[in-house]
Amino acid sequence: MTEEERREIIHNVEEAKRKIAAAAIAAGHRPEDITLVAATKMNGAERVRAAVEAGVDVCGENRVQELLEKYEQHAYDGKPLHFIGTLQSNKVKYLMGKVSLIESVSSIKLARVIDKEAAKAGICQDILLEVNIGREESKLGIDPDELFSAAEEIAKLEHVHVRGLMAIPPKTQLNEEKTLYFDRMSQLFIDISAKKYDNIAMDYLSMGMSADYCEAISCGATIVRLGTAIFGARQY
Ligand SMILES: *Cc1c(COP(=O)(O)O)cnc(C)c1O
Repeated sequence: MTEEERREIIHNVEEAKRKIAAAAIAAGHRPEDITLVAATKMNGAERVRAAVEAGVDVCGENRVQELLEKYEQHAYDGKPLHFIGTLQSNKVKYLMGKVSLIESVSSIKLARVIDKEAAKAGICQDILLEVNIGREESKLGIDPDELFSAAEEIAKLEHVHVRGLMAIPPKTQLNEEKTLYFDRMSQLFIDISAKKYDNIAMDYLSMGMSADYCEAISCGATIVRLGTAIFGARQY
C-alpha cells in the first residue's frame, strides 16, 4: 500500500464520519449512536489497519477464510469485528470468540448451529436477524412475514442473543424505492421492540451501504456498512 492510498482511506473515513454525523443529527440521533462498520472484503490487512487507525468503529468481514487470515495478521486489532456475509453452518465454529456480532443470521437453522457452537465455546453469541426485505429469490434472509415466529424460536436458544435486525435491500437507483424498504425495516424493528420478547433486544438496525447510508440513517439505521466509500471500488 502506498502512502497515497493510506491517505485516501483516512480521508474517506473522515468524510464518511462527517456525513454520518450530519445524517444522524438530522434524524434526531446523536452521531455516536451510529456505528460505522468498514466492510473490509477483498482489502488486505494493511488497508484494513489504515481504516482502523482512521477511526471506523467496527470491521465487518464477509468470508470466514478471509477473516481468519486477516485476524492472524492483526488487521482488526483494537476494534470489534462483525461477520456480515453468507455463513455456512460448518464454518460457524471458526468465528466463536472472534466476532462480537454475527449480523447475517438468515435462518432459524443457522441460529441453532451458532447456539450449539457458542455453547461449546462457553459463550453467548450476539446476533442480528437478516431480513430478506425485498423477498428476492437470489438473497438469503428471513421472510418479513416469518420474522416474528422466527424471532420467537430463536429467542429460546440460550447461547445466542438477538440484538437487532439487518437487511440488504434490493438494488435500485430510485431513492423512493430505497426509502420504502428502509422504512419497512424500521417498522419491523419497532414492532418487534414493542413485543418485548425475552432474550431479544432491538439495539441495532443495520442497513445502508456506500450508495445509500445517509438515507438509511434518516429511516432509523443505527449501523451502516461501508466498503466502496472507504476503500474505493473493489477489484474483482
Ligand atoms: C460489501 C458489503 C457491504 C459494503 O458494500 P459497499 O456498497 O461497497 O459499501 C455492506 N454489507 C455487506 C453485507 C457487504 O457484503
